Amino acid sequence: MTSEELERYNRQIALLGEDGQVKLKKSKILIVGAGGLGSAALYYLAAAGIGRIIVIDREQVELSNLNRQILYTSSDIGLSKANVALRRLKELNPNINISALSKDFDESLAEEIVPKVDLAIDALDNWDTRILLNRACVKYKKPLVHAGIEGFYGQLMVIIPGETACLQCIIPAKPHERRPFPVIGPVPGILGAMEALESIKILTGCGEITKGKLVLFNGYSLSLTNVDVKRNPKCPVCSHLFP
Ligand SMILES: [Zn+2]
Repeated sequence: MTSEELERYNRQIALLGEDGQVKLKKSKILIVGAGGLGSAALYYLAAAGIGRIIVIDREQVELSNLNRQILYTSSDIGLSKANVALRRLKELNPNINISALSKDFDESLAEEIVPKVDLAIDALDNWDTRILLNRACVKYKKPLVHAGIEGFYGQLMVIIPGETACLQCIIPAKPHERRPFPVIGPVPGILGAMEALESIKILTGCGEITKGKLVLFNGYSLSLTNVDVKRNPKCPVCSHLFP
């Protein structure tokens, strides 16, 4: 690491050690979605010095995104979220390598990218794409950090294929989705920051990962609840990985 990097990361090296920081620098992650969750997760992961970040989002910035999608400003309206995210994160941390794809995350993109990364982050707002990302992560045995939000509420789950339940285990049928759903801005910020925290722990081996738990955030009363989640022995996606 350079002296600039040692100074930039000095407050976290105190916790992760230089070894941990080097692990972050050597890591390659995929984050699907650069909206409310993705804005927060990307900011913290870029700031933390993750060496290679691939971000995928096909949408453009809209005025109604700006109550929560903190990567963007009023002057970005109409621009590609992926491209603006790339520019802003490079300004934040020029040491890291970011690739931005302004396209749909589909089966062929999943097959191309998921095998090459150390970890994937679900910062999505729809279950079809989540299920696709979950399937690819299980297939290539890559850790997946899932979060979802609506209104005052959010949830987070860490999926370690072959060890913990996958998303399909806990959600056998696609949940009902209402669009557009209401969101209080800080809620995706909190959940996105939690995704970044869990990712840093997975990549460095520091701290205790919330394995086997679904973390439920209630922003209405401000509480966090951990619910035990079990693997489904008949899960069509991951059951073959278990003894
Ligand atoms: Zn499963």
